[in-house]
Amino acid sequence: MKIVTVGTGMAAAEFVQQLRLGGFSGDIVMYSEEPHAPYSPCVIPYLLAGEPPDNVYWKGRDFYERYRVAARLGEKVEEIDREAGKLRTVAGRVETYDRLFYAAGSRSWFPRPEWLEVEGVFGFKTLSDMQAIDGYIRNHEVQRAVVVGGGFIGIDAALALRHRGLQVSLVHCHDRLLERMTDADAGRFATARLKERSGIAFYMQAEVEALDTDHGQLQRAWLHNGTAIEAPLLIVATGFVPNSGPLTSDQRGVTVGDDLLADPRILAAGDVAVTRHALGGPDGLYATAPNAIAQARVAAANVLGSREVYAGSLNANVLRKHIDFPVISAGQFEGEPVTFTDGRLFRRVYLRDGRIKGYILAGDTRLSGYIYNLYVSREAVAGKIAAILADTRGESYYRSLMELAPAAISC
Ligand SMILES: Cc1cc2nc3c(=O)[nH]c(=O)nc-3n(C[C@H](O)[C@H](O)[C@H](O)COP(=O)(O)OP(=O)(O)OC[C@H]3O[C@@H](n4cnc5c(N)ncnc54)[C@H](O)[C@@H]3O)c2cc1C
Repeated sequence: MKIVTVGTGMAAAEFVQQLRLGGFSGDIVMYSEEPHAPYSPCVIPYLLAGEPPDNVYWKGRDFYERYRVAARLGEKVEEIDREAGKLRTVAGRVETYDRLFYAAGSRSWFPRPEWLEVEGVFGFKTLSDMQAIDGYIRNHEVQRAVVVGGGFIGIDAALALRHRGLQVSLVHCHDRLLERMTDADAGRFATARLKERSGIAFYMQAEVEALDTDHGQLQRAWLHNGTAIEAPLLIVATGFVPNSGPLTSDQRGVTVGDDLLADPRILAAGDVAVTRHALGGPDGLYATAPNAIAQARVAAANVLGSREVYAGSLNANVLRKHIDFPVISAGQFEGEPVTFTDGRLFRRVYLRDGRIKGYILAGDTRLSGYIYNLYVSREAVAGKIAAILADTRGESYYRSLMELAPAAISC
């Protein structure tokens, strides 16, 4: 059997590794439009901040040799012919497959694609983006930058640049940051703390309307209200679209079942896959590394013949790189809110039928593991959750263990 992957990212690398570890000895061909060994985009903000690239190649630089893969790097797949079981690249190469693993991820969405023509404007999605930004900062001795977009990725990028010593402005269209991973109260709280602590200049309810250039190079960004921000570097982090085009001819993602099959010969996983939510949320694109890896493992097991069922995705997000003020959330912000705040911390869970439907923790990570476990286990917590949230020492988990086994713990 010949297996072909579209993508060499987190999902595809995990899939191939699991196949080889599971004894698959057939041909594997991997396509990537980028020239790299498999890497983790999660590490890119650390690289941008100037930190050592220790674990960016998370499965080793020798991945393709080690797992006996024919790597077709720098080759973009343009079209997939499902009937014929073959793909075609932009350069015209045609490749047949017995099974296709489609894990093409997502790409930055640009509100104004023409900005990409301007020297100094970048997306923030790939290792290639990061290398281009890094080279530009070094070559032009860049001291100031603008980031457009106050979601998770935009803030990650802004914090990384700030950590590197640049003066950073962040322009966001909403009245609060992180509006997708928080509710209104938590979002306002997180916004206020980030304004106080990050050293970033925030321009809220603002949009970049025009760019000034000199010989094609960015000089300043103009906001819709007439404010000019002087900076030769602008990073656009206004969202992602799934790279589903070659398979679905649209940009809505690839819908898969719990076996990760999109059709009898094609499996899909990662940021491009539309999956079921594990705990009753809507079907959707749940673009995180743990989801991509879990999906890839189930897909590999199924190719190897074990008939595994994907348990569904979680929308769990953590903002904590380069800031001592983490923001963590998961689930749906629906139901009865139970809140603890002391000015430094904001903790809220939403209860439905006495169980956690969603939660937001801002300010520290002490309860994050415990609350996550209570959420995924669907434990009834109505009677104790207020006390857990008010625990500022992080002891509630250990206290819960003592309630379960007092004799064992006390001796
Ligand atoms: C800056 C940043 C920080 C992040 N931080 C976190 C984090 O802290 N925690 C977390 O859980 N998640 C994080 N994520 C998300 C996480 O990286 C993704 O969910 C994960 O990488 C998804 O894996 P994937 O294999 O679907 O996509 P990717 O890893 O993006 O891989 C996609 C692959 O497809 C290839 N490709 C695309 N189109 C084509 C084509 N037409 N032809 C050939 N090849 C193609 C690409 O070259 C690439 O190899 C972050 C993402 C970014 C961008």
